[in-house]
Amino acid sequence: MPDFDLAIIGGGINGTGLARDAAGRGLRVLLVESNDLGSGTSSASSKLIHGGLRYLEKYAFRLVREALGEREVLLRMAPHVIRPMRFMLPPMPGMRAPLLLRLGLFIYDRLAPRQLLPPSRTVDLTHNPIGQPLQRLFRYGFEYSDCWVDDARLVLLTAMDAKERGADIRIHTRCVRVERGANWELVLNRRGRREVATARVLVNAAGPWIGEVAETVIRQPLKAPVRLIKGSHIVVRRRFEHDCGYIFQAPDGRVVFALPFADEFTLIGTTDENFVGDLKSPAPSPAEVTYLCDVVNQYFRERVTPDELVWSFSGVRALYDDGSKRPEDVTRDYELVLDQKKDLAPLLTVYGGKITTHRKLAEAAMDKIGVFFKTLPPWTAGSSLPGGDFPADGFYALVGETIGRWPFLSEPHARRLVRAYGTRVERILGDAQSMDDLGPRLTGDLTGAELRYLVEHEWVETAEDVLYRRGKFGLKTTPDERIAINQFIVSLSGQVAS
Ligand SMILES: Cc1cc2nc3c(=O)[nH]c(=O)nc-3n(C[C@H](O)[C@H](O)[C@H](O)COP(=O)(O)OP(=O)(O)OC[C@H]3O[C@@H](n4cnc5c(N)ncnc54)[C@H](O)[C@@H]3O)c2cc1C
Repeated sequence: MPDFDLAIIGGGINGTGLARDAAGRGLRVLLVESNDLGSGTSSASSKLIHGGLRYLEKYAFRLVREALGEREVLLRMAPHVIRPMRFMLPPMPGMRAPLLLRLGLFIYDRLAPRQLLPPSRTVDLTHNPIGQPLQRLFRYGFEYSDCWVDDARLVLLTAMDAKERGADIRIHTRCVRVERGANWELVLNRRGRREVATARVLVNAAGPWIGEVAETVIRQPLKAPVRLIKGSHIVVRRRFEHDCGYIFQAPDGRVVFALPFADEFTLIGTTDENFVGDLKSPAPSPAEVTYLCDVVNQYFRERVTPDELVWSFSGVRALYDDGSKRPEDVTRDYELVLDQKKDLAPLLTVYGGKITTHRKLAEAAMDKIGVFFKTLPPWTAGSSLPGGDFPADGFYALVGETIGRWPFLSEPHARRLVRAYGTRVERILGDAQSMDDLGPRLTGDLTGAELRYLVEHEWVETAEDVLYRRGKFGLKTTPDERIAINQFIVSLSGQVAS
């Protein structure tokens, strides 16, 4: 008998989502991630749980309906790392007609059931704080609902839940070679150490690396072509005080979001470019930065300039190549390709997908691979991720309870902790009576107690994991703080290992 029923290559949202679903259905699951969880495309998204208003124009009704329906399912599953967000869409003269925008939102409101998120409406921008940062030319706009997600933490929590349900999650473990027989034999490289594992079914969920994994690890070319498309974001000082986002129409017909980010910043993105280059470090080109600045400068009163970036990042989508000419037209829907040959173990390859549809993708994948096993029925729709076991509208109540129980926390500190850990804040704060009981302050309000929790429970191994994925402290840390965090992690890792 093989060691595992299912082996998954790739610890992004799609790999971890499938690992969680499969483990919860009783399968023996191995997931290998060559780097940190979510370190690929899944931490470089626009961080939206959305139907994708723009995809309505492409008549992608299946995708939009499914994604719209997932907003509230995911919000209920993780009301700490996901929150409802209102978006302002100001009509721009010469672009899509206001009537067309209104019609699009009418459809958006009605394509899928909605209980928690309010419908769209027209807003007078001259008398609403949401109009304040916009140029005077915008007198009214359309407001609608989607959700915001901490993408990297969603991946982490999904992996954590998979682990708690029995999956074997191995990070910093690269799958270097597989041999296909009646079962798969995987050769793994875990920090220079060779490991071997066997599994009945193999899943290539390596995101933009699916082609590379197919060619070099599985040594069997992809059955269907993949299209790699890069999207970039820039982060600048906060341009507005409220917690709504903006969706701006660009002159080329695309849309650009401007979103509140990590309290003090604004996140602006994204672009769409065919990707060529090194997948290890995709980065925004000067032309992409200028493009994003130019688009938002047509809307905001206060100019955004390329020289004021606090941070920037790019991600690469691995889309199912439907032959579209323009990168923005290639389908964002997922495709699951099953390769099943007589007497040979099955292989499933994951193309595309969105953070928003990862749970449905996992269910669809289980439909395909479930035929090889006796599995339990779908279960994730009514489930919670770790720390998410509180009502979807209960975030502020939980912040209040947290301050009530640990009164020495400031409101922003309690809010950040609840946003990240939900009900699991208790595991960090324990019976602390004062800030001093939480250990040294390492950067901002990151304490030794929190970092210990991250190392012990969230696979943190380097400062980078904490600064840009488990949290966003990196936007404000000094080089000295970074060194201190690394040293603290090294000292804790010794204690955890011993
Ligand atoms: C710019 C941009 C914006 C986006 N915005 C949104 C959004 O707002 N909302 C939304 O829903 N979706 C969004 N998406 C889509 C979403 O981010 C992706 O569909 C999703 O993150 C893909 O996840 P994945 O797990 O397939 O790939 P990845 O997250 O890239 O994971 C693949 C993993 O495989 C690992 N790997 C590769 N080779 C090996 C190997 N040999 N052994 C072990 N591990 C290996 C990699 O290290 C990587 O971590 C956006 C995408 C982009 C690019």
